[in-house]
Amino acid sequence: MELSSAKKTQLLNYKSISYTLYAVILVLAAAFPILAGQYYARYVIVMFITIIISIGYNISSGYCGLVHFASAPMYAAGAYGAAVMMVRFDMPFIVGLLFGILAACFVSLFVSIPAFRVSGHYLALISLGLVEIVQEVLVEWKGVTAGPAGMYLPNVSFLGSPLTWMGQYYFIFAVMLLSFIIQRSIVKSYLGRAFRSIKNDAVAATSAGINVRLFMFIAILISGIFAGTAGALYAGYSGYISPDTFGFDYTVYILLVVVIGGSGTLAGPLVGTLIITVLPEFFNASPDIKLFFYGLLLIVITISMPDGISGKLKKYLRAYSYERIPDSIEIKKYVALADCGLEENQGADESEDIMELNNLTKYFGGLAAVSNLNLKIKTGSIYSLIGPNGAGKSTTVNMITGMDRASTGEVIFRNQTLNLIEPYLISGLGIARTFQHVRLFGKMTVLENIMVGKHLAFRYGILGTLFRTPKMRYQETLNKEKALAYLDTIGLLDKANEVASSLSYGQQKLLDLARALAMEPKLLLLDEPCAGLNEAEINYFANLIKRIRNSGITILLIEHHMKLVMDISDRIIVLEYGKKIAEGNPKEIQENSAVREAYLGTAVAKYA
Ligand code: ADP
Ligand code: MG
Repeated sequence: MELSSAKKTQLLNYKSISYTLYAVILVLAAAFPILAGQYYARYVIVMFITIIISIGYNISSGYCGLVHFASAPMYAAGAYGAAVMMVRFDMPFIVGLLFGILAACFVSLFVSIPAFRVSGHYLALISLGLVEIVQEVLVEWKGVTAGPAGMYLPNVSFLGSPLTWMGQYYFIFAVMLLSFIIQRSIVKSYLGRAFRSIKNDAVAATSAGINVRLFMFIAILISGIFAGTAGALYAGYSGYISPDTFGFDYTVYILLVVVIGGSGTLAGPLVGTLIITVLPEFFNASPDIKLFFYGLLLIVITISMPDGISGKLKKYLRAYSYERIPDSIEIKKYVALADCGLEENQGADESEDIMELNNLTKYFGGLAAVSNLNLKIKTGSIYSLIGPNGAGKSTTVNMITGMDRASTGEVIFRNQTLNLIEPYLISGLGIARTFQHVRLFGKMTVLENIMVGKHLAFRYGILGTLFRTPKMRYQETLNKEKALAYLDTIGLLDKANEVASSLSYGQQKLLDLARALAMEPKLLLLDEPCAGLNEAEINYFANLIKRIRNSGITILLIEHHMKLVMDISDRIIVLEYGKKIAEGNPKEIQENSAVREAYLGTAVAKYA
């Protein structure tokens, strides 16, 4: 498992390279006003502000995948919120800043509330409307915003005396650094993993127990907080604001910064700001060429580097470096946890029914995909649902997990009716599933996929996330060890740091299963786990499924592979055209003439 020390010395450490780069930038930025003077320092202040707002946009769009155009309106709310407080109410800058952030959060609601209902392109369109509405308000609400003439602000002061230009520089520099650190803390917490999982596959995220709408709301709120902060800083530092700064151009500018820098990477906002502000300076003589240059840059970068410059750099550096995970210390620790979650019988009461389906029915248009299905599942057994394609097996699983709503009938799980419960909550009750067509978080690592499965195990809040408290670190480490143990159980430990989409099909199916297992479910729904696998892989799965059952987890298995089904099932249910045509133990099913006739034919006779 461990890399040989020779290999270690041969390779560069990716982390130490990026830390060195950050340190160089930090020192340069700190020394800049002293070396370059006031004139150039103003440029850098604007860059800091751009970085702050881009970080917010990066979180909502780069990490969470919500493409919107609300940066400028939220930025405007921050700037005008601060200005109105300082000018009309004679408040100090700090009050203006807080009010500006509040105002930006308010504007962010106009993006996040529609996001509850619409998604994708529509969200972008709605936020585009927001740009125009906020412009209108700034221009027309003259009594407050002074209209197109704009507002002049008093000097920002600190402890009674006005801040010098250098004071302003270091103040805004500090806020930028803080923003950067906050971005990192968020990304490296369960919050960040939830955001990324939503971007990768919102359905799979839901089945991991993530409240997708809530987290989308939070992501947009965070982008509002950053934009509001940036807006207030801009107003305070520039001393004058007017509506035309906050138009469509600015929103697109922020989008460009993030996309070119590398959306969904920590350094993206920084790299993007550097490129977008510094490079075009060479074309200052002609504004037309500058626009042309922006366009060209965007085309070249989106085609050649889909993850932006920082994403490309990261890949390049990784290729020439080694990863420390899982390192020897972690391996030592998790060995104690080996077979995590699969200890022999955890004391399930096998006399009880864990689930009951009563007259469960689902219509798609006129088609009854499932009709009047009745079923009781005993705790601690393997139930198999078989039947030809289109018989309604997946639809049954979808109704149990809340992804399809039953037309009539009930799903009762441990004496609780599930019909009206939100899908993400159903996962939280102890039902986990895999998908017939694997749905992994393709761009996240194998380890991260399992960590998302552990989403509900994380109990640290905002403070834990921001300050990386001991509680937060403890939970992260503990669950990482458990996740590694699951990977070991399915034999994918050495792939921990590879992106999930790079796995073979069989490995992806295994990872899908391990992610579901990591949720420590009471009932596990497996939708054709062995479809498309070879004989050896199927045997591996058969063993694994038996071990899972022996650990006390009840299993509902959908599978076409008859030998597997006959070997491991305690009970089999046969569906045809949405109706149950037989139920019994494997022997009874094999001998059932209706089943033979309708579906199994010779397939069963072979194992009889
Ligand atoms: P199985 O998993 O047993 O192969 P499914 O449950 O996927 O079958 O499908 C049962 C029937 O319902 C099929 O006829 C299928 O075409 C139909 N069906 C499944 N999902 C939908 C849907 N979302 N919309 C319309 N029809 C659907
Ligand atoms: Mg199916």
